[in-house]
Amino acid sequence: TLDNISAMLERIEQDNVKFLRLQFTDLLGMPKNVAIPAKQVGKALTGGIGFDGSSIEGFVRIEESDMVLKPDLSTYTLLPWRPRENRVARFICDVCKPDGTPFEGDPRYVLRRAMEDAAKDGYVFNTGPELEFFLFKMLEGRPTTQFQDVGGYFDLAPTDLAEDLRREAILALIEMGFEIEASHHEVAESQHEIDFQYSDALHTADNVITFKFAVKTMALMRGLHASFMAKPIPGINGSGMHVNCSLAKDGVNAFYDPDAPLQLSKTCMHFIGGLLEHAPAITRIANPTVNSYKRLVPGYEAPCYISWSASNRSALVRVPAPRGNSTRVEFRSPDPTCNPYLAFTAMLAAGMDGVRSEIEPPADVHKNIFHMTSTERGQNGIETLPGDLHQAHSALLADDLICNALGPHVVEALTSVAEAEWDAYRTTVHPWELDRYLAAY
Ligand code: ADP
Ligand code: MG
Ligand code: MG
Ligand code: MG
Ligand code: MG
Repeated sequence: TLDNISAMLERIEQDNVKFLRLQFTDLLGMPKNVAIPAKQVGKALTGGIGFDGSSIEGFVRIEESDMVLKPDLSTYTLLPWRPRENRVARFICDVCKPDGTPFEGDPRYVLRRAMEDAAKDGYVFNTGPELEFFLFKMLEGRPTTQFQDVGGYFDLAPTDLAEDLRREAILALIEMGFEIEASHHEVAESQHEIDFQYSDALHTADNVITFKFAVKTMALMRGLHASFMAKPIPGINGSGMHVNCSLAKDGVNAFYDPDAPLQLSKTCMHFIGGLLEHAPAITRIANPTVNSYKRLVPGYEAPCYISWSASNRSALVRVPAPRGNSTRVEFRSPDPTCNPYLAFTAMLAAGMDGVRSEIEPPADVHKNIFHMTSTERGQNGIETLPGDLHQAHSALLADDLICNALGPHVVEALTSVAEAEWDAYRTTVHPWELDRYLAAY
């Protein structure tokens, strides 16, 4: 409303903001932005700002390229690492067509639509992601794969660059409104995790984009590269983005039922059933790069089989111990290269299908699946996740429910991306092949 807009303009003036970044996300989950001087903000807030959508990955063809950015007032944030005078703030924007209607290729809109669908049954989808990343040294302005430190899981390193950086990044995130719950050194050398508080999926997806952008920026300021690539180094753990999920109804956690087996409600069990049923298609969205599949292999705490468990971390879906309002299911396959809007959309659509169609999950698996033989897995009905991007994309196209949730525009754009990516990969001769065959043959 105009009242809100004039309050916002006043706030911008009080904060001494001179530049505003209008931010949105492309199909690949890359943040994009247009900067405008504060003088233009009034216009941007009332009518939006036009831009050419044809140069944005997965957006539109040349002949229909006029797009409008509409700032979401609730996302106003100062960028803490920019100068303290003449400050820079940002808005996250919705992408609209020139007639003001939402653009079907805007990932934020796709998630909003899925959330509205769940709201018809009274549900709010809450997500809490755990983002892992590596800190690498830079050489002549380019990232290397050289570690910045040699610590391990929960290690308390002597004060080093990484520790300072993590602290600074956390302070910046807090300034930007994040509720940081924990941070620790991860299993691999130079690998870190910072956890922030869960929220509704739309807000959380915005947070994931902001989080990666902030951590990368802070790292760069210290001459380091923060990489969210899924598996940068063979032979050690990759970086995941476990997603803790729950549904709330009337403000109450709908996954908790003190009288049910494991204290998990029917809604929770059916949500798990839906996640498992649609897991192959979700994989395309949650693991979108060729490299993502090098993380989903046995032996590194990443899942590769379709199962759930209340007790072990080798399963795709784990139910962490906390109950009551913290009752949640942890979906362990996503990695931080995913577009969080689309990944949450796919997960929610899958879970809601489980709830609506009352999909019973198979029995939970207590054993470590990585120690089972393929015969044992077969006897237990445990199937395997898609092994590469090509298989995962085929699984997506075979899943009408997930395709519907994403919408035809997004599915078509994802298809061009997957085909181009897969062709480039499969027609490249990789160093491994030369090592293996050049001298031998
Ligand atoms: P792990 O035990 O797998 O390491 P973490 O403690 O690192 O898990 O992260 C747990 C995440 O789950 C946090 O982001 C937290 O906010 C989130 N979370 C807690 N309760 C809920 C809930 N009810 N719904 C969704 N996410 C939740
Ligand atoms: Mg964790
Ligand atoms: Mg923890
Ligand atoms: Mg972790
Ligand atoms: Mg976890």
